[in-house]
Amino acid sequence: MICPFCHTPETKVIDSRHVPETNEIRRRRSCPVCQQRFSTYETVEMVMPRVIKRDGSRISFDENKLRKGILCALERRPVTTADLDQAIANILKEVRAIGEKEVHARQIGELVMTALKKLDEVAYIRFASVYRRFQDIDCFREEIDRLLRIKTSATETV
Ligand SMILES: [Zn+2]
Repeated sequence: MICPFCHTPETKVIDSRHVPETNEIRRRRSCPVCQQRFSTYETVEMVMPRVIKRDGSRISFDENKLRKGILCALERRPVTTADLDQAIANILKEVRAIGEKEVHARQIGELVMTALKKLDEVAYIRFASVYRRFQDIDCFREEIDRLLRIKTSATETV
């Protein structure tokens, strides 16, 4: 790390510590030439890849949309918010682990299906039956609403 005061190319790390609140590594540095001390912060790059839709268009990864899609499938299912949050955190981690700047919407859909399969069988079937047809979480809400309405009215007529 270059000294910001005298621009000496080499400075010495005299202390290194993890900052849990921000998940950063703070490094205290000292310049051997001008003796100035300064800190640097190191963070993990947490940028999500962009999403390639089926028509080839690219959109920003939208965690809210992902959550809404999963919430739809979990409607009236006995799954705790903590389990839902954990599942979403895992999906985000897996999407990042693909390590590409762009991922196909289909890859994300497959990860969601795998997560739902572990979480709740009914939610998985709901999601898979709709998703396999549309291949896009965008179109998901309406179809799930429709399925729920059919199910509700069927129950009411019994
Ligand atoms: Zn210096």
